[in-house]
Amino acid sequence: MAIIDLRSDTVTKPTSEMYVAMASAEVGDDVYGDDPTVNRLESLAAEKLGKEAALFVPSGTMGNLIAILTHTKPGQEMILEEKSHIFQYEVGGVARVAGVQTRPINGPRGQMAIECIEEAIRPQNIHFPETGLIAIENTHNISGGSVLPLEYMRKVSELAKSRNLPVHLDGARVFNAAVALGTDVKNIAKHVDSVMFCLSKGLASPVGSILVGNRSFINKARKHRKMLGGGLRQAGVLAACGIISLESMVDRLKEDHENARLLASELLETGIFITQPEAVKTNIVNAVLDCPSCNAFELSEKLAERGVLVGARSKRHFRFVLHKDVTRDNVIEAISVMNSVKKKNCP
Ligand SMILES: *Cc1c(COP(=O)(O)O)cnc(C)c1O
Repeated sequence: MAIIDLRSDTVTKPTSEMYVAMASAEVGDDVYGDDPTVNRLESLAAEKLGKEAALFVPSGTMGNLIAILTHTKPGQEMILEEKSHIFQYEVGGVARVAGVQTRPINGPRGQMAIECIEEAIRPQNIHFPETGLIAIENTHNISGGSVLPLEYMRKVSELAKSRNLPVHLDGARVFNAAVALGTDVKNIAKHVDSVMFCLSKGLASPVGSILVGNRSFINKARKHRKMLGGGLRQAGVLAACGIISLESMVDRLKEDHENARLLASELLETGIFITQPEAVKTNIVNAVLDCPSCNAFELSEKLAERGVLVGARSKRHFRFVLHKDVTRDNVIEAISVMNSVKKKNCP
């Protein structure tokens, strides 16, 4: 049975070109700075994002934590969106490891209102913690892969500059944002001091993320990576895949976005899901189960028996993620499986 895996874009398998590149990658000890393939990936990533330097890290979670450790001091506070990945899904590492207090703000579709960010910046007062960082997320995962517009990012940047605060972008899917906006990723990155992005999601690498910023930031970040145990040795075998991700896996993300839009409208047609196809801008589709006799967990088990893997978030909520290992035909196939497991009394 062929599996159609819609749980996440982290499930993507390396391309055949990646397997070849891994087998022949030139390597060295990256903690000594000796791995030529890692060095090549880091310069390529810095250049693509329009920043001075880059650091290869084992995961997006570690990349965000390193960025926070590097921008802040323990006891400071960071402003971030309440449904952001850093606040929701990173095990509280900000508090535990960086010693930083979070100041979550609600932001519809991932956009904290500029006035709300401004109000949350702490004034000088003996009682208050000091604001040390603002973090934003583009695309915004929990909001269904929504995209922060460039004009919004410019306003965040302007505010942060006027208050002398750094901005970190959790850009796990920043290339999806760039493709959706029809812009060069540099035009997104230029509004922030640092960006973390994942090679291991839609860009199909097996492992790894990248942190970019200016040279002194990346030098400090490199030391924090070592402290967290993220210094890798012959990481060139992984970096070889990352180079392919950046050179040949970006443009095809638009197919994932088209398939996501198709999935959203087909889900709506089944009569048991509520989606907003016109709100789907990238590769993530949020859906609400609209059937009193169905439960998302039960439904996802039934679908799994038929080879369709989906992520149930709660009794009523699903998240579907499109990626290079799910074709347009797979989307149509998944929909027909969904129709076939509907109960007799479903709408
Ligand atoms: C996946 C993701 C991360 C973390 O990446 P991992 O490599 O899974 O640790 C961070 N931020 C966002 C928005 C993500 O979607």
